[in-house]
Amino acid sequence: MRSLLMHNPIVAALGWIIAFLFFTVLPLLVLLVYPPPAGRGFWLEFSVALGFIGLALMALQFALTARVNRIEASYGIDLILAFHRYTSFVAFVMVLVHPLILFWVQPETIQLLNFPVAPLRAQMATIATLAFIVLIVTTIWRKQLKIPYEPWRLSHSILSVLAVGLGLGHALLVGNYLGLFWKAVLWGAIALVSLWLIVYIRLVKPWLMTRKPYLVEEVIQERGNVSTLALRPIGHDGFRFQPGQFAWITLNITPFSMREHPFSMSSSGEHPERLEFGIKAVGDFTSRVKDYKPGTKAYLDGPYGVFTTDRYEDAAGFVLIAGGIGITPLMSMLVTAAGRKDDRPYTLIYSNKTWDSITYREAINDLKAQLDLTAIHVLREPSQDWEGATGYVDKEMLDRYIPKRRGTRHYFICASPKMMEQVERALHDLDVPITNVHLEHYNLA
Ligand SMILES: Cc1cc2nc3c(=O)[nH]c(=O)nc-3n(C[C@H](O)[C@H](O)[C@H](O)COP(=O)(O)OP(=O)(O)OC[C@H]3O[C@@H](n4cnc5c(N)ncnc54)[C@H](O)[C@@H]3O)c2cc1C
Repeated sequence: MRSLLMHNPIVAALGWIIAFLFFTVLPLLVLLVYPPPAGRGFWLEFSVALGFIGLALMALQFALTARVNRIEASYGIDLILAFHRYTSFVAFVMVLVHPLILFWVQPETIQLLNFPVAPLRAQMATIATLAFIVLIVTTIWRKQLKIPYEPWRLSHSILSVLAVGLGLGHALLVGNYLGLFWKAVLWGAIALVSLWLIVYIRLVKPWLMTRKPYLVEEVIQERGNVSTLALRPIGHDGFRFQPGQFAWITLNITPFSMREHPFSMSSSGEHPERLEFGIKAVGDFTSRVKDYKPGTKAYLDGPYGVFTTDRYEDAAGFVLIAGGIGITPLMSMLVTAAGRKDDRPYTLIYSNKTWDSITYREAINDLKAQLDLTAIHVLREPSQDWEGATGYVDKEMLDRYIPKRRGTRHYFICASPKMMEQVERALHDLDVPITNVHLEHYNLA
């Protein structure tokens, strides 16, 4: 059974969904073991049920975001984070509606909002709800509120621990149900597992990373304001990865600081002794990469991701579509395929502003000698003598370059969100089966 779960991706994916649903409704199942206290009516019970499910959903978010390899391998980080956002929002609505129903059914309970005189369980609920509101507002409107990514990530962690911790404290102190043995055991266990996940993410994982350090071997300037950061494992073998996957990099600081950034490997998955990352200068961290000297210490957490040609061994060939820095995972697919002497056809459609800004332009050209590779460069600002493709990658352009037997290939797209949306729609209009189209999003938050 265990090996079936691990080796069949569909069974594994279904298994995680069933586990998630089970743990979400577990508090209610435990409630059913006992008869409800007399004379409380439907709405009161409904409010309690909402609170219980909302709290269980909130606690489950720690498991969703703990970067558990097996869970990530079933869905990919994009899907997991989208699911995290939606289920957190559902939990938020439940947690808000839970006291509102209580105030409506028993108006005298509104007194519980009088914070200085309210009992501890109500004070905990108030602070937990406020933390949850701040968490949701700062997440949905982070960019409008101009909150930089890193402070946001730190506050997100603190607020979520506060909301779940105080929510659990509230549930444990509310007597009616939790006085009962199994309910106390249940919330106690959820509190312990949540605590363990926090300890694992904040302490155990960074500690494991310190045991496998890397050194910067080289920083190479590339076209398009990109630096290739080459890392060498020190005292260990590094990790093998599937081309297209990514890792979280911590550079020149301790991994306990949690200031890490995700980057796709751009080198061959067959060469763990030298991992390369193509990093485009877009903000604080990425603009500093070019200045790091050989010998700088680095730590990696990875590999992660399901955006990889290795999952489609039976494909007759691949169409890779990149915009700007979206080339990095696709570059890894190409160099890995060349190293493995893969004889299937590869089509690369690569969009950039100008001819001079095409990252890896020369390397891509060299790969044509080692692979059945057709590279189509698309320029948005071409020079007068440019005779190749121009403008945006749209349906007409794709119709010209992708094979007529669309379903025989797998399509990998990594570009700006707008380009990915347009290309995905165009591929759909060209009858490419949706199961053959794979996307990698760089903007997670
Ligand atoms: C799976 C994945 C693979 C990626 N691969 C590459 C790659 O190969 N090459 C490359 O140049 N870029 C890649 N990125 C994007 C890269 O992680 C961000 O550009 C980088 O973290 C920005 O950091 P900064 O401090 O320079 O910019 P900031 O000024 O902090 O932020 C610029 C924007 O980048 C995003 N961002 C910042 N920090 C993070 C973070 N830690 N995690 C997620 N998003 C963040 C935010 O949305 C922010 O608005 C990848 C992102 C993901 C999710």
